[in-house]
Amino acid sequence: MFSGDRLRQARELLSLTQTDLARLVGRSQAAIANIEAGLLEPSAEVAESIANRTRFPLTFFTDQTRFHFPGETLMFRARASATRRETVAACRHAEVSLELTELLEASVTQIPIRLQKSSQTPEIAAQHVRHLFGIGADQPIPNLIDLVERIGVTALALPIDLAKIDAFSTWLTATNKRPIIAACRNKPGDRLRFNVAHELGHLVLHGELKRLGPGEHQQADRFAAELLMPGAAMRGEIETPVTLSRIAPLKLRWGVSIQALVRRAHDLGIIANRQYRYLFEQLSARGWRTNEPSNLAVAQERPRALRKMAEVVYGDPIDYGRFSSDARLSVSYLKDLMDGYAEAPTSATEAMSSGKVIQLRST
Ligand SMILES: [Zn+2]
Repeated sequence: MFSGDRLRQARELLSLTQTDLARLVGRSQAAIANIEAGLLEPSAEVAESIANRTRFPLTFFTDQTRFHFPGETLMFRARASATRRETVAACRHAEVSLELTELLEASVTQIPIRLQKSSQTPEIAAQHVRHLFGIGADQPIPNLIDLVERIGVTALALPIDLAKIDAFSTWLTATNKRPIIAACRNKPGDRLRFNVAHELGHLVLHGELKRLGPGEHQQADRFAAELLMPGAAMRGEIETPVTLSRIAPLKLRWGVSIQALVRRAHDLGIIANRQYRYLFEQLSARGWRTNEPSNLAVAQERPRALRKMAEVVYGDPIDYGRFSSDARLSVSYLKDLMDGYAEAPTSATEAMSSGKVIQLRST
């Protein structure tokens, strides 16, 4: 049985319209619409052609979809206005990644979900999460995505680069109340860290609330600022009078942009309005508002769990043949997807950390 939902999912993931796909497989748009609606079973030849053109294995289309993220949900949650086609594609990638996560989780011990919702102020909620991370109140957060995964958040690296959206988050309520943060590709390291922290703020402060407004985004920003640049530590570390050259070294130490540090110094009352405006003028004059100096680039963090599970189940290096046939996804899609996930750390950090997080289920 050919699944119309699967066809829609694959088509939207590839950002194709029904007309685009119809042209690719030499059929009419109406035929594609009918297949997607489940009104028409494609012939073996058409099904084959769809599989070839979309580069999804035929088995993908004979299996039922298990998740559905309505594109609208994401549009309501995102701060910036991305196009509908972009947000829908991001949702479809997230659905496929979640299915993959479920497939792999059947063979490994899952990380318990320790992240909890909070009705406290964003600052206190952020301090609680720092405590949950096991990070001292005045210490920088080394690898945020790694810590987020350790408290049971499913971190997805979507193989898609959206101009307007860096990351989004939601609690998946249908099955197991799983918190999810999905991040898009190719974002500067400091920006991604702040946006992941912002999304973590939404998960903690706003739970399942579907429609997020300016007030909620602002609270998530306050959460992110306190999580990455705790007020108490900043008051001790930001020297006055604040200049760009004085504040710049804090960027690498705290893993945040210079702009974020200047904004934080202002929010904490370390610098006055006039100085704040002056520093932003300087940032603009140096072209740092769009590109901060490359010698101060913050390393790009990638999630690890999904790849780690694939290595546990399919070996390291991953046996993509077996992985592909179980996942009902092409080898090329899986390889591209896995590129977004971190490889095993080689240093001693592995022994003390991620090596113990995921183990083969002993039964
Ligand atoms: Zn937000």
